[in-house]
Order: sequence, then structure tokens, then C-alpha cells
Amino acid sequence: MIKYAAAIELLASSKPGCENQNGDKRVNALQRLKLSYNRWVASYNYKCCDEVDDVLKRPFINTGYRHERASFIYYLKSILTPNNESVNVWTHFLPFLYFVYRIYNFMRSEDDPFAVLNYPYYVHGIGVCAVLLISTIAHTFCSCSAICSKSCFGADYAAIYCYGISCLIPFEFYLCPMSHNCQGPTAVNYLTFMCIFSLLATFATLFSDYSSRSPIPGFRTVTYVFGIGTVYTPCVVRYFIYSFEHTHPSYFIGHDYSLTFLLSTLCLIIAAFFYTQRLPERWYTGKFDIIGHSHNLFHMLSALAMYMQNVLLANVLEDVKQGIKDGYFSEEHFNISWQATLGAYILLLVSTNLVVGVYAIVLRKDRSKAKCK
Ligand SMILES: [Zn+2]
Repeated sequence: MIKYAAAIELLASSKPGCENQNGDKRVNALQRLKLSYNRWVASYNYKCCDEVDDVLKRPFINTGYRHERASFIYYLKSILTPNNESVNVWTHFLPFLYFVYRIYNFMRSEDDPFAVLNYPYYVHGIGVCAVLLISTIAHTFCSCSAICSKSCFGADYAAIYCYGISCLIPFEFYLCPMSHNCQGPTAVNYLTFMCIFSLLATFATLFSDYSSRSPIPGFRTVTYVFGIGTVYTPCVVRYFIYSFEHTHPSYFIGHDYSLTFLLSTLCLIIAAFFYTQRLPERWYTGKFDIIGHSHNLFHMLSALAMYMQNVLLANVLEDVKQGIKDGYFSEEHFNISWQATLGAYILLLVSTNLVVGVYAIVLRKDRSKAKCK
């Protein structure tokens, strides 16, 4: 606040066009713009990091913390003001709107939008929309209290796990069936195992951190690594093994989109780099408090990766349909059912959110007990 006050005082005492007699008016204009920006941010009177609960602090972010225990309307309105969460909200809310429009458009363009072949693609669409919407809600209300922040980001982590499965299902059915040549697990068995594993991993991740007294160090980072692993292990199998074996009836599908696949992988790797290294705010602490910090970059890059994956799957689905039309293979080769796609995924979403609900209740009880002591 002192810094902003000094900047505003300097701005008020300055006379436009006179500060730099040698005439670098461009620098002068930039400085004035920067001071105006600082004055605008300061006018919202948000808090500094030493004024908020430890759980609500973000590493290397000094200012722009919203007030705790404010009203529902306050947090809703806050997304239109400059605080350290507003860009996080918009970088996932706008892509969410776009994906809803994209899926709606896809359904409109189909002769039979509810054809069984489309189910794996819809699973991806639902997974993307769910993770973007839950993240938007989490970042809107996370500043309410320490318990609220933990519950919101617990839901966010759970959504990332579910998103991993929403990628795995279409990749399994359209592109790279892990189970196909493994002689043993069927696609249904394999996906059932992955869904149960994902649910247990969500449970372990959330409860590893439910008490601030004994969190397991680094355990939550594993969530993100697992999410990416779930998404990309089948893709790696597809591109580096099945491509050469040519044993699956749909082996030729997806070759044309390897660049899309590589670009989305690159986006996720860069996103993970910014996220884990806390860059650029680690190097320029205080300069990226409101816009441009690592979480903003992580959101933008992950949304871009989701878009590329969705484009890839839409193109692959077109290839599948064309292949069936041309008689290269039949619909039965893909062995798609409602239960193994939309049914399983909706069940996973519901059970994962039940785990999040239990986690939030346990957190509240833990706090009540701590207050009584
Ligand atoms: Zn986020």
C-alpha cells in the first residue's frame, strides 16, 4: 500500500510532458500508464500476503488477496476486478463457454447425435467442461476461508483426475486400445481398473492434506503427473508401438494428427514447468501478482492442450466414420457401449464428487474440534 501511495503522489506531482526535457515522451507515457494501473489496482483495497491466512497465501504473490468471509455476491463481483484470482477465473471460464458451444455445434451437425460411435467423444467433452467449470468455481470462491480454499482445490484436483479418464476412454476406443493385443484384459476391464484407481488416488490425494499438521510433501504434485500419465500413456503406446505393428483394425487412424498430438503434449509440458517452478513470479516477485503469474499461464496452456486434444478426437472420429462407410471395418470392431463410456464416466464423476463432499465435511469437523480444544 505504501508503494502504491508513493506512486500516486509522484503521479499527482508530475506535470505531463515536462519530466523528460530530452523528449522521451514514450517512456513518460509508459510510466504514467503503469502508475495509473497501480492506482486502479490499489483503489480496490485488496490485501497483502501478510494479512491473510497461511493456507490462502500463494508463493511469490505479494498483493491482490481478496477479503475473507465475505458474501457470495462479493466473490462473484470480484471476478470483474483486479485481484490475484480474477485472471485464473476467466482463463478457464471462457474456454468452458467455448467448449459448450463446440459440443453443441457438433451435436447439431450430426444426423444422429446420439449414435453409439459418438459416446467416447462426448466423454471427452464432458470431462473438459467439468474440469473447466469446477476450476472456475474453485478460483471464484477459494478466498472465503482456509477450509473453503482446501475444499475448492480438492474439487479441482479431483476434476483433473476425472479429466485424465475422459481422455483415456476415447483414446482407448478410437485410437490406441491398450487392451487390444495384451491378451487378457478387455477394454471394459482395463477402464474399470483405471476408474477405480483414479477414485482411490483422488481419495488419497485429498486426505493426504486434510490436516495442515501432517501433509505428505509433494503428494499433490503427483496428481498432475498422474493426470498427464493417464492421458498420454495410451497415446505413446499408439504412436510408438501400434503404428509399427498394424494389428488393430483401426491402425491407420490418427497418423495425420501426430502434430496436433505433439503440440498438445508440448503445451502440457510447458504448463507443468510454469506450474511447478512458479515462474515468472519467482524471478520477478510482486510484478505478476494480478496478471501473468504461473497459474494464469498454466490455465491458458492447459486449455489450449484440451482444445488440441478435442480437435484430434473429432478428426479421428470422422476417420472412424469414413472407414466404416468405406467398408474398412465395421462398427463392432470398436466395441463401444453406453456402459463402458458415458455410463462409467458419469458414475466416476458422481463418486469422485462424493469423495470431495466427504473431504469437505471432515475438514469442517476437524476445525470444529480444534476450536473446542
Ligand atoms: Zn487453477
